[in-house]
Amino acid sequence: MSAVPESPATISLQNLKGVGPRLVQRLQRLGITTLEQLLFHLPLRYQDRTQITPLGSLQVGDEAVIEAEVVLAEVSQRGRRALLCLLQDGTGGLTLRFFHFSPVQYKLLTQPGTRLHCYGEVRSGAGMLEMVHPECRRLDGEAPPVLEDYLTPVYPTTEGLHQLTLRSLFQQALQRLEEEPECLPEWLPPSLRERLKLPTLAAAVQRLHRPPAALPPLELEAELQLARRRLAFEELLAHQLSLRQLREQVQRNAALPLTGGDGLRRRFLQGLPFTLTAAQQRVIQEIDADLVQPRPMLRLVQGDVGSGKTVVAAAAALRAVAMGFQAAVMAPTELLAEQHYQSFSNWLAPLDLEVAWLTGRLKGKAREAMLAQIRSGEAAVVVGTHALFQEGVVFAGLALVVIDEQHRFGVHQRLALREKGRQGGYCPHQLIMTATPIPRTLAMSAYADLDTSIIDQLPPGRTPVQTVVISENRRAEVIDRIRLACGQGRQAYWVCPLIEESEVLQCQAAADTARYLAQTLPGLRIGLVHGRLKSAEKEQVMAAFKAGELELLVATTVIEVGVDVPNASLMIIENGERLGLAQLHQLRGRVGRGSAQSSCVLLYRGPLSEQAHKRLAILRASNDGFEIARRDLELRGPGEVLGTRQTGDLQLRVADLMRDEDLLDAVQQTARELLQDYPRQAQAIVRRWIGEGERYGEV
Ligand code: ADP
Ligand code: MG
Repeated sequence: MSAVPESPATISLQNLKGVGPRLVQRLQRLGITTLEQLLFHLPLRYQDRTQITPLGSLQVGDEAVIEAEVVLAEVSQRGRRALLCLLQDGTGGLTLRFFHFSPVQYKLLTQPGTRLHCYGEVRSGAGMLEMVHPECRRLDGEAPPVLEDYLTPVYPTTEGLHQLTLRSLFQQALQRLEEEPECLPEWLPPSLRERLKLPTLAAAVQRLHRPPAALPPLELEAELQLARRRLAFEELLAHQLSLRQLREQVQRNAALPLTGGDGLRRRFLQGLPFTLTAAQQRVIQEIDADLVQPRPMLRLVQGDVGSGKTVVAAAAALRAVAMGFQAAVMAPTELLAEQHYQSFSNWLAPLDLEVAWLTGRLKGKAREAMLAQIRSGEAAVVVGTHALFQEGVVFAGLALVVIDEQHRFGVHQRLALREKGRQGGYCPHQLIMTATPIPRTLAMSAYADLDTSIIDQLPPGRTPVQTVVISENRRAEVIDRIRLACGQGRQAYWVCPLIEESEVLQCQAAADTARYLAQTLPGLRIGLVHGRLKSAEKEQVMAAFKAGELELLVATTVIEVGVDVPNASLMIIENGERLGLAQLHQLRGRVGRGSAQSSCVLLYRGPLSEQAHKRLAILRASNDGFEIARRDLELRGPGEVLGTRQTGDLQLRVADLMRDEDLLDAVQQTARELLQDYPRQAQAIVRRWIGEGERYGEV
């Protein structure tokens, strides 16, 4: 690969005047370590210091430059001690107020006749307008006024880093850019730039840091907008490119083409108590088309809660099994792993296939036995948690990895898995499933390394869950509902979500609730699951609930994903106002899995904040995970929606996925073109915005 020329990513900030170790540290807090990163640190807003406002025309709230003469000064002891300084300019007067002042400032400000040049915000004072702690400079003699030709940027900053320091750094950086344009090379080929009608990066950066004051405001606004979009475009492009490169890297590996297995597949489908929905069939076809390729499949299946993803995973697994290879199914929690193990065992036992099971809790002899089954190939399908990919687990021939509920794993984890799954020179096919629908904006940016399939249909016979929002002081009504539902042979969940920081306290809360419900609902068979139970205990309780031996299950959010008990028709969620939309939708998805009318009661503790109110209203109005995800993104922004673990994967300096959504199509297309025709530039862009290797660790 050709070397990327020297770029300012390698020009350290220490080359700028006045930058010592302390400043370097502070800049680092803003994510700035190079000259380029400095240039991508954009102003929050601008001040107009290009003209002097006569004191007589100042208005409260103005940020203004003034020039006037000191006529009177005194240290006032009334109220908070302050130095007051009365200025006049022939059109009116203004008070400057300083709560702190050095002896030098004191001397400067208290000499009647001194002419001052000040910049500050105008406030209403006692009987006269005033500025509190304005920036001040003495004007010597009849010197001409010092005015700026450009608007003055105000930057986002951090403690101990003054605006003036930042401005001086930018002045130097921009000057350097003018003298040596090669310090910010242009990587977008001119033809592409013209088609996209985007300015050069250098021009955009200049505009944003030094907007000319002479332009009419609307024109200026449009120019700044365009300049910002130029940067945002390149940043989104960098992310897109890096994910695509990653994908290419993976797909350069060989994979086992899975071509057979029609007979086995048919027998499996015939044994199911239902027929697949059209959406499930379509997605299975999409998967099959990938599996016959000699390079690894990288496919994300999105399907709302209850859309039937597990059976799709099983259908894919059989392709591997039919060829004598193995499939691994990874779930994010023990509970879910256990449940998948049950489903797969039920489905595959009639086909004379062994399913193995492996989680972190499996110890000693039992673990050894499982490992042996996996190593010998006796186990056709292996279900488990991430323990599947720990040291010591050796597969006889792993051809497919299914990762369920992918939203819990970031790009990083995805990659680590790909690496660990590699055995005997082959990379396994990868199928990733998520019930948290990923809005298009995110799918196109954070998940660009994957192909996507969507199960956009629920199995027939489901009635949408009715959702009600009730204040927790109407608990008695809720208890009546439980009594009624269970009296009709239905089952119910009562979820106590995390409101305490500690898991211990959370489990405690669930235990207390279970006790309280047992007292209030005598005669009802009540179970309790939470994260601190031993895995065997959890399984026992879940199995009893599934078998209908328990009627009410009190749980923490351990049951959030995947748990499937079709007879459960009532879900109570406490502290609904504290949970995110995606999580609430997931929890609610535990009911409405059978044909009975199901309902979900969101208990809240008032008063509700406006945000919480909106969230709950969205949930009440919609059962559609995609719609909910879209509204969620609007309410909270992408960082939050992806969850803290994933935000590390998508830290944007300039771009904003909501605001810049309309750029994404062009970003995708440009990424394709660059990789094809301008690989060197593509690499330079990734390096400029994301760095090399940093983001994806060892890979
Ligand atoms: P999810 O997509 O949330 O993982 P599951 O795979 O757990 O959904 O499926 C939910 C329930 O629907 C399970 O009980 C499953 O057996 C059932 N199911 C799946 N596909 C169909 C279908 N086509 N018709 C009827 N029931 C189905
Ligand atoms: Mg599932």
